[in-house]
This record gives sequence, structure tokens and C-alpha cells, in this order.
Amino acid sequence: MGANKKILMLPGDGIGPEVMEEVRRVIDWMQDKKLFNLEIQENLIGGSCIDKLGIPIEENTIQLAQEADGVLLGAVGGPKWDNVDFNIRPEAALLKIRKDLGLFANLRPAIVFEALVDASSLKREVIAGLDILIVRELTGGIYFGEPRGVKNLADGIREGRNSLVYNTREVERIARVGFELAQIRGKKLCSIDKANVLESTKMWREEVIRIAPEYPDVELTHMLVDNAAMQLVRDPKQFDVIVTTNLFGDILSDCASMATGSLGMLPSASLGAPDESGYRNALYEPVHGTAPDIAGLGKANPLAMILSFAMMLRYSFEMLTEANRIEEAVETVLNLGLRTEDIMSDGNKIVSTTEMGSAVIAELDKIK
Ligand code: NAD
Repeated sequence: MGANKKILMLPGDGIGPEVMEEVRRVIDWMQDKKLFNLEIQENLIGGSCIDKLGIPIEENTIQLAQEADGVLLGAVGGPKWDNVDFNIRPEAALLKIRKDLGLFANLRPAIVFEALVDASSLKREVIAGLDILIVRELTGGIYFGEPRGVKNLADGIREGRNSLVYNTREVERIARVGFELAQIRGKKLCSIDKANVLESTKMWREEVIRIAPEYPDVELTHMLVDNAAMQLVRDPKQFDVIVTTNLFGDILSDCASMATGSLGMLPSASLGAPDESGYRNALYEPVHGTAPDIAGLGKANPLAMILSFAMMLRYSFEMLTEANRIEEAVETVLNLGLRTEDIMSDGNKIVSTTEMGSAVIAELDKIK
């Protein structure tokens, strides 16, 4: 029996609870097989929490998240809460939990499963076998830098300003995440900046170079962001791990994720800084939102949520065998031609959310 771990589940709104249910079934399967002993706690977040308690997240939930070994989040929001007070909107819960857990590193893998190669807008030869990881700085840079705001100048002219600010500590800690992940993957790290124009990212590049000797097994390269955007659609397989700023990462990760064809397939992780014992807060969630258009219809693709759980096993619990096993099961199910509606194509079979979950579990059962 593996280690005793505590997970906090926050299913959220819309399809969140539907896809989370499938992860719960995968966990039940793992518990039955005695792969680990998990304690699961569950709480409300987002619109469902507003409906019940008038706030999008409880302080108690933050505390449980801090105590847990990992947090699994569905998604929050939907038209029902579009007009609630700005401070208690569902998204405020996300910002709060990310801030309170100090989640500064956002990990977005872009993996193309062979069975879905043709769902991509890019050519098969460009994306077949793609497996890259974008590490985005999440709590600094131009989204948070001061001064910021819009000023009224003379003659009715307005001036808008945002500041791209990073300090050495912030660059170093995100770069270390990039190096460490490269070490357990393909041993290549590409740091993306705009060092030819922006002083703050010139400093970023210098700091990354400064710590590189501590990771002699990782090949470090640098690329300007405009070139990186072009390379991601021209030849994305040249990358292994990419590390970049908040703004550049926001744009590049969406660009890379579209190469994979479907929102319903994309997991993500957000990590905090490790403490002295190496423990770090971590939150795992699918990239997609609450999909209000299909909520409650049994059409949601649970694979992004299941793959987010696999990321938790890999990055928080160091259960690489089990993580690989889940990813392998997902791949086999796709190879068998089972598809939820969002990834359906000719010649395949449409299945419901639950049927997709059952198929993954059936494959898990077969893997030795
Ligand atoms: P969305 O990701 O919810 O949906 C976009 C489209 O993709 C929809 O057609 C939807 O049906 C489809 N889709 C998404 N996930 C799917 C899945 N797992 N299976 C099948 N189809 C899927 O984005 P949106 O429509 O822009 O946003 C809807 C709500 O979700 C909004 O309230 C938004 O604020 C919220 N949202 C939350 C998060 C989050 O909690 N992290 C992220 C994005 C959007």
C-alpha cells in the first residue's frame, strides 16, 4: 500500500462535478487495488458556494487546501452568476486560492495522443508525438506590476499603464521549476523572453543563465517570444520544457494547447514554493471551464480532469508508475475509438461522461 495522502476535491460548477465524479471512480479503483491510501475531503467553490453561503469560497476551504497534499479543482462560474457583485464572483475564489497557496508556477502540458492527431489544425507530421510542457510564471510580471492604471491627461487624452516587474527571487524560483521538470523529462529547457527590447526580461535571461550551472544535465536555450510563437506552430516538437513570464506564458500556452485539438483533453497544474522538507502546495485542474452549454447532459469529456489527477500523482506524490498507467489507459481508450462528443470524428463511437470513465477504469484493470 502506498503512502497515506490527503486530497481536497473542489468540483465547482457546471460540468465540474460531472468530470470530478470520474476521477473519484479512478481513485476508488486505485484504493481497491491498494495502490495508495487516500483521504478525500470535498468542499464547495464558486457559484455553488455562492448559492449556499453567499461567498465563493470559505476560509476553512483555504485551510483544508493548505493542509492537503494536493487540491483537485473542477471549474467555476457560469451565466447564473454573471451579475453577482464583482468581489464575490466565482472567479474571485480561484484568485484567492491561488494567492493564498502561493501558486506561482503554472504547468501546462501539450500532449498529442496519436488517436487525436487529426483533430489538430496543424499537419500530422508537425504534431504527431508532441509532448511539451510550458511552465508559466503565475503571480508576477505585467499582470501584477505597479504602477498601473488609466490616467486622465489634458485635452481629454487618457493614458493606460502596466508595469512588467520581476525581481531575481521570482525569476530564480520559476526557473528552478523549469530546470527540475526538464531533469525528469527530456533534459531540455528553453527560456522565453524579449531580452532585445525589455530590460526586465534581459534581467530574466541573465538570472536563468546564472543558476544554469546547478543543472549541468539540462541543456538550456533562450528564445525571443515572437520567434517562440512562430516555432510553436512551425515545429513544436523541438521543445521539451519551456519556462516564461506570466504574459508570454498566457499566450503561448493557449497557442500550444490548440495544437492538441481539444479543450476537453488538457490538464494543468499550479505549484507553490517548496518548504524546508520539500513539500509544496499544488492545485490540479483541467484547462477547460464549466461548459454551461452541456452541463448536466452527460456529454462532458472527463479526460482532462482524469489527466489532471495523473499530473497530481506525478508531481505531488511522485507516483510515476501510477501516473503513466492512467495516461496509458486514456491513450488505449482513444485508440479503441471511444469519443465524447467534443472529440468525435467519423468512424468512432460516441460515449457519455460515465462511459468514458468506465472505459478508462476497464483499461486500468488490464495494464500489468
Ligand atoms: P469552457 O471551457 O467552459 O467551454 C468552451 C467550449 O468547450 C464549450 O462549447 C464547451 O461545451 C466545450 N467544453 C469545455 N470543456 C469541455 C469538456 N470537458 N467536454 C466537452 N466539451 C467541453 O469555456 P467558456 O464557455 O468560455 O466558459 C464557461 C464558464 O466557465 C464561464 O463562466 C467561465 O468564466 C468559466 N471558466 C472557468 C475556468 C476555471 O474555473 N478555471 C476556466 C475557463 C472558464
